[in-house]
Amino acid sequence: MFDLTGKVAVVTGGNGGIGLAMASGMACAGAKVVIVGRNAAKSAAAVQALVAEGLRAEALEADVTDEIAVQRLFGTVLQRHGSVHILVNNAGTSIRRQPQALSLAEWQTVIDTNLTSAFLCSRAAHAAMREAGGGKMINIGSMLSIFGAPYASAYGASKGGVVQLTRSLATAWAADNIQVNAVLPGWIDTDLTRKAREQVPGLHERVLARTPAARWGVPADLAGIAVFLASSGSDFVTGTAIPVDGGYSIS
Ligand code: NDP
Repeated sequence: MFDLTGKVAVVTGGNGGIGLAMASGMACAGAKVVIVGRNAAKSAAAVQALVAEGLRAEALEADVTDEIAVQRLFGTVLQRHGSVHILVNNAGTSIRRQPQALSLAEWQTVIDTNLTSAFLCSRAAHAAMREAGGGKMINIGSMLSIFGAPYASAYGASKGGVVQLTRSLATAWAADNIQVNAVLPGWIDTDLTRKAREQVPGLHERVLARTPAARWGVPADLAGIAVFLASSGSDFVTGTAIPVDGGYSIS
């Protein structure tokens, strides 16, 4: 039920952190993974690590906020692999600043990276998935899809938008047998949150105190949900937003 042999999975932001862990999980389940990022050296290292484990992986360079680059990206995937069955919209960024100090350019960067990219990639993958008889799209939200925070107006708006985009795409493409779901990670130890921990005194301890599991998550905690949502085991699951947070959102 969770076998992904023969499936082609595109993971944006797949060269590190949560994206790489999800790519690794799906590759362990048999998928061929295409990891997408802007940093070619980081992507090459990630592919090398996956291939060294006997997994099937390659990297493609693209800025997923760029409409033309996204079209080119999926053109290349189709040319090389014939189809795309799984898309993980994971690329993301954060600019921590109070709303009154956030510039329009910063707002736009966050919205484009976290939300518009998911629209562009999903739209670009849709026809190939429909032709393949179905597909799986997994969008990465956040605890800030649910909660507010003073430093996260653009980030929270983008991640709330990811959940609503997920619901809209799920209803639009259910007839094409494409399931679209969102995953809402809790606090996961990655480059993104390492920066936040440096900038915000006490953050590390506050997260620990509020998380019933009493630990920060690690990227590998997200691998299982990726395999589930990419597999036929989730064929009747669509439009959901599933927290993977050690209980943070219910405490
Ligand atoms: P990382 O900073 O480790 O990863 C972000 C990834 O996004 C990188 O691989 C980066 O690759 C890629 N990326 C950023 N901008 C672009 C772009 N314009 N085009 C292509 N790729 C891009 O962070 P995480 O692993 O922590 O985050 C992954 C996702 O999970 C994000 O959406 C984040 O918001 C979300 N998330 C993370 C949480 C956490 O606690 N860590 C909690 C909740 C959600 P490159 O630099 O090569 O472009």
